[in-house]
Amino acid sequence: MANNMVRFNRKIILLLFFLCYASMPSVADEKLTGVVIGSRPSVDYRTSRQSTTVNTCEKAFDGDLSTFFASWDRSYTWTGLDLGIPHVITKVGWSPRDDGNGPKRVLLGVFEGANQPDFKDALPLHIITEQGTIGKLSYAEVTCSKGFRYVRYVGPSEARCNIAEVEFYGHPGEGDLSQLHQLTNLPTVTIHTEDGIIPYDKEHEITAQLTIISDNGSHLLSGPGSIRERGNGSRSFPKRPYRIKFNQKQHVLDAPAKAKKWTLINNYGDKTLMRNLLAFELSRQMKMPYTPYCTAVDVILNGEYKGCYQLCDQVQVHKKRIDIEEMTPLDNEGIALTGGYFIEVDAYADQEPSWFYSQGGNSVTIKQPSSDSITWQQQNYIKNHFNKMEAQWQHYLDLNTFLRHFLVGELSGNTDTYWSLFLYKHRDNDTLYVGPVWDFDLAFENDNRTYPVNSKQDYIYRSGGSYAGNMRSFVDKIVVRDASAQKEMLRIWDEARMAGMTEDHLLALIDSLEELLQQSQRLNFIRWPIMNSIVHQNPRLWGSYEAEVDNVRRFIKERFAWMDNKLGYTYDGLTQTASAPSPERAIYNLQGQLMQGDFSTLPSGIYISGGRKILKR
Ligand code: CA
Repeated sequence: MANNMVRFNRKIILLLFFLCYASMPSVADEKLTGVVIGSRPSVDYRTSRQSTTVNTCEKAFDGDLSTFFASWDRSYTWTGLDLGIPHVITKVGWSPRDDGNGPKRVLLGVFEGANQPDFKDALPLHIITEQGTIGKLSYAEVTCSKGFRYVRYVGPSEARCNIAEVEFYGHPGEGDLSQLHQLTNLPTVTIHTEDGIIPYDKEHEITAQLTIISDNGSHLLSGPGSIRERGNGSRSFPKRPYRIKFNQKQHVLDAPAKAKKWTLINNYGDKTLMRNLLAFELSRQMKMPYTPYCTAVDVILNGEYKGCYQLCDQVQVHKKRIDIEEMTPLDNEGIALTGGYFIEVDAYADQEPSWFYSQGGNSVTIKQPSSDSITWQQQNYIKNHFNKMEAQWQHYLDLNTFLRHFLVGELSGNTDTYWSLFLYKHRDNDTLYVGPVWDFDLAFENDNRTYPVNSKQDYIYRSGGSYAGNMRSFVDKIVVRDASAQKEMLRIWDEARMAGMTEDHLLALIDSLEELLQQSQRLNFIRWPIMNSIVHQNPRLWGSYEAEVDNVRRFIKERFAWMDNKLGYTYDGLTQTASAPSPERAIYNLQGQLMQGDFSTLPSGIYISGGRKILKR
């Protein structure tokens, strides 16, 4: 009895100790103070003039909910604290300015921490995803284990900050990198440029620190580099596409290539944010030799949330990208002069520094060797070789990659397939190969000029698709007028269909991408409220993210049958058979997920392999 009492008391003491310990962080995590730092000057709304005394960044830290900070500049402005020494932040608080627009002007405001006063090394602490409440502080727990001396609140775009109060809570400490903040389930790419310069064209590389937080905040990649805009048509949208370049080659996320250059695709007109991802899967299923790496991410630039992007390979000569010989300015004769070359039949070629006009009436950009290193001998060589290919495609064009690329374009209903066409040439090999596939923002039923695609009798490239120069008649020669090419196309189609390129597979991918993108699409369409606006070539307003994705689903459901029919292909559907699939063929479940391991080890059920349903008993 006495023994039990002792044990009981010990339990109570342990419990009390635990309760004290558990409550310690909130005792230690005080509201932090420091020297107020931030954007200057501010705006005096009474005079509409710049001010250094009214509405200054200090007003966000004066404890008074009726005073506020409003910056003179409209975007990329902030208010924060120099804490003197690093602190691990455990909580942030905020309250909007007391005016009509106040509550929504905090939406997408970003909290950051840094150890350099210019915030070049900043990491995100929190993003505000709900409207604020006037006269009241809202709070969020912060799960970032790294300590920061400098902390700040960056107002969303065009908000002039307009924040009544900001609070940081935490405790002194250097912390560690074990747990960082990712805005959503997607990796967060955060870019901080030198002197806060915003990238403004394709020529000027802006020095920047490039940071990628992934694996639910447990992995950090951060390195110096640069950023500039990229793209052609897609550059005209307010959500800009970017090219980032690390100073050193980096392994980025799960991409195969260790490389310096990566692209951030903006997907402005593609409201599903998934068209490239779907098309790249078709490219893999069509067994293109190289399909660019591409994955969805959230992007922050200088503390401002920019939206959901796709981080993709820079399409370039590289062992894990376009694997051809890299030329030097010394490769001017003999076999050395024969490659490798990477070119693009390109409607925008005349805006590029290195391009030519072919005898067949096509404008062609020479991507590599690059414009700053290419010699006149190399220029002449590739131009002459391209002319030869136009005249005698049977001898100089790789029909295999041409047709696979064509089928990805047609199956996805891409109106841009021949608006821009990549080709490459190996050294000591006369063939021009086609690829990779690229740019699908108008595919999958997203172009009013061809909508609805499945109602067309003919291929999309002949039914309103865009093409550079004389590409349509060039493609006709192969696809429409060459019987052996048609036969080969049917063979490739059958091979891909039998290997599992099915409607079910793609629909399953759409389902999983819709789920993956759920959190990020919500933030993206707060940042870019275009769901009820026609942008780019949108054929219709579908009204919601889900309805936009449904539009792609509907298209896919019809498109496989349309293609089978157009190609004169009889798809015998998924027939049940009790026999095991041939071992070299991939096995999928009915959700389209690739099964690992041998057929005999799978649980009972129905699987798909080689385009057929297989019953596993
Ligand atoms: Ca205040």
